[in-house]
Formats: sequence, C-alpha cells, structure tokens
Amino acid sequence: MSTKTPTRFQPVLDEIVAILRPQLGQGGTVASYIPALARIDARQFGIALRTCDGEEAGAGDFETPFSIQSVSKLFTLTLAMQRMGDALWERIGREPSGNPFNSLVQLENEQGKPRNPFINAGAIAVADRLVSQAKAKGGSAKTDILRLMSSLCGEPIAFDGEVAQSEADTGFRNVALANFMKSFGKIDNDVAEVLDTYFHQCALRMSCRQLARAAAFLCRDGAHPIAGEPEVTGERQTRRINSLMLTCGTYDAAGDVAFSIGLPCKSGVGGGIVAVVPDQLTLCVWSPALDATGNSLLGMKALELFVARTGLSVF
Ligand code: GLU
Repeated sequence: MSTKTPTRFQPVLDEIVAILRPQLGQGGTVASYIPALARIDARQFGIALRTCDGEEAGAGDFETPFSIQSVSKLFTLTLAMQRMGDALWERIGREPSGNPFNSLVQLENEQGKPRNPFINAGAIAVADRLVSQAKAKGGSAKTDILRLMSSLCGEPIAFDGEVAQSEADTGFRNVALANFMKSFGKIDNDVAEVLDTYFHQCALRMSCRQLARAAAFLCRDGAHPIAGEPEVTGERQTRRINSLMLTCGTYDAAGDVAFSIGLPCKSGVGGGIVAVVPDQLTLCVWSPALDATGNSLLGMKALELFVARTGLSVF
C-alpha cells in the first residue's frame, strides 16, 4: 500500500482530538447487547482520513481495532453490486425506513422486501445474495468478504470470533427477520448459513486507519485505493452507494446528519462512522459511546467539527 504522509489535514485532526478528548466519558452509552461490546472502554476516540490521491492522516486512537458492526453493510452492499449490478434491487429497496434498524413492521407491508440495504433486514438479504454468488463458484461468502476488506486495506483483515459467536447467541431478532423474509420467498439459502455470514460481517475488526482506506474507493469514483488494482465499482454504482449512505446510513438520524454534516455516512453500534467527501477524501471516526439514535456521540461531533473547519460538504 503506497501512502504519502503527512497531509494538510493533519492539524485539523489533531485539533479535533484536542477539543473532544476532554468530553470522553461524559455522555452516551456503549452498546451493551453483547459482552464483547459492553466491556469496551468508552473513553476512546480516533479519527483517520485518506485523500483521493493517497495521503493519509490520523489522530487519537486511530490505530485501535474495533468491531465495525453495521459499517460492514456498506462493504457487503459493494460486493453485491459488483457481482449483481441492478438485479440486486429486485430484492431490496432504496428508501429510508423511518423505523428502527431491526424493525419487522415494514417487512410485512412490503412482502418481505426490505426498505434499504442498511437496515438489518436489507443487510441480511444482501448476505443471502452473497451466499448464492459464492456457492455458484464453489466458494464462501465469508471468504469473499475477508478478501475484499484485505484487498482494500492492503493488509489482512479478520473476524473477531468472540463477537461473531455472541451475535449468533443473542441475535434473536435477526433470526426472526431472516425467517420472516424466507416465508415470503425472499431468502434463497438456508437461513442459518445466511445469518452466519451476517453475524461474521458485523464482527469484522478494523481500525479507523483501515476503514478510511477501505472506503477510499467511494471518493475516487470507484477506483481501488491501491494503484494498479481493478476498479472496485463503476462511477455510477459508486454514486449510488454514496447516495444510499446519505439517505439511509445513520439509522433514524439520516435527515439530521444530512442537515448538520452533509456527507454520506455509514455508522455502526461499535461506535465507528465512515464518511465520504466525493472527489476529496474518506474519513473514519470512532468513539464507542452512542447517542440516543445509536450513532457515536463524539464521532458525530467530530464530523461536524471537520466539516466546519474545512468547509468540505457535498452541498
Ligand atoms: N450486530 C448488530 C445487529 O445485527 C448490528 C448493529 C449495528 O451496528 O447496527 O443487531
């Protein structure tokens, strides 16, 4: 992986860390539905970015790996779009849901078709497509996911086995969502196999530095972060991923995030958020304490500060 450092953004990242560090541990709550997340020290904050021409910068705990959780939905969507193109949208919608990320309600009204790929039902439907695609080639969706992430980062990426197991042990609602979709004929594979893929993608462990790199194709019209590698997605597909992130990427806060930050973002309950400034850079912020909408409290504050300091926005 070729990188050039430091970037002109390093002082901005250092300033954001200096402003937010005194607020660590003062508000928000760490996700507690599984032990591996409940025991994470809330007083951590990291921020990293990668510019579209390969410069990298990071500050705070930007090298600390964490559970990327729903940020993974962005990458499995990418993989499914690579493999299936527009056929993917026969099974999955593109509207913000306005309901909790793990809601069953809309699925019934919409005959088992999830509203978008970033709610749990949508990500499980994407996982089903990936399982089918992998099987057709005698492979495994979990291996395909690790291969994509490692290729994008230029270094090996792994699942956290304890988190994956806990997701499986406690994921009753995800089991319900998968079975409910299956009852409408919208899941092709064995539910257990699809969920195993979904629980593992949630358990990917990555740092801010790695996530800013892995998402870098989103600020480069789909070009792979590593020179010489084939493009990750075409320009049109890349634009579509960014617009889904803007409209659906931050749980029920997507409208507020568009209003106050104005960047495509995807967040997860591990406290990570990936944000994209098209044609400029990708950013990853991480702080484990979440606000009432399930997004990282200080992560969102950091993005607001970054946009205010740099004037970068899609609007
Ligand atoms: N593993 C979580 C679940 O499926 C994902 C939570 C998230 O980051 O939104 O419930």
